[in-house]
Amino acid sequence: MLTADTVRVRSIVYETFVREGRAPSIAELARITATDPDAIRSLQRDLARAHAIVLSPDGDAIRMAHPFTAAPMAFVVTPLDGHDDRRWWGGCAWDSFGISAALDLDVRIDTACPHCGTPISYTAGPGTPPPDGLAVRFPKPAALWWDDVVDTCTRIRTFCSTDHAEMWTEQHDPGAGYIASATTVWRLAQPWYGDRLDAGFQPHSRDHNQRLLDDCGLTGDFWHLP
Ligand SMILES: [Zn+2]
Ligand SMILES: [Zn+2]
Repeated sequence: MLTADTVRVRSIVYETFVREGRAPSIAELARITATDPDAIRSLQRDLARAHAIVLSPDGDAIRMAHPFTAAPMAFVVTPLDGHDDRRWWGGCAWDSFGISAALDLDVRIDTACPHCGTPISYTAGPGTPPPDGLAVRFPKPAALWWDDVVDTCTRIRTFCSTDHAEMWTEQHDPGAGYIASATTVWRLAQPWYGDRLDAGFQPHSRDHNQRLLDDCGLTGDFWHLP
């Protein structure tokens, strides 16, 4: 369970991502919460241990607060409403759907197929799946995701087709990974990320998340959470 102090810092982190597409600095968090920077550093470490945020390698900045990321990771998420000028980096194919789910917002997602390099642009929303035919490749089994979650997300990519995902795998990572339809990943993102901005959010339990994977047909060793 997150404590009241960590919940407060976490809320400011997410509010800043939602509003400005960036992570707040330690100085900013210290000022807003009227605490000292060392206390913020310590709360950030607690949040990172709970997998509620991801810190930079030097530990002095927030790198990700899933589904948001503070640095580009091959996905740009744009509100479909042209009067809404916010933009976000999506942490991966899954996180990009997660931003739409968390914000309850119809979005356009821009990326490129890692195999052929063709730009891919698709729309999705909480009630609108992405178009058929797109494939998402997961590079490694669920048990290993958090060993290096930035690397994991960096490599969860959308391909223009299952064929291209298979060809890329054959050339770069033979025998590894799992290829799902983008629609399956979209479906998974709704309950996985839909409550991420709720007041009083607590990280899901392992069993809860395992059920969400099961419900999308993502079963077997590859999908077994640690
Ligand atoms: Zn392609
Ligand atoms: Zn991700």
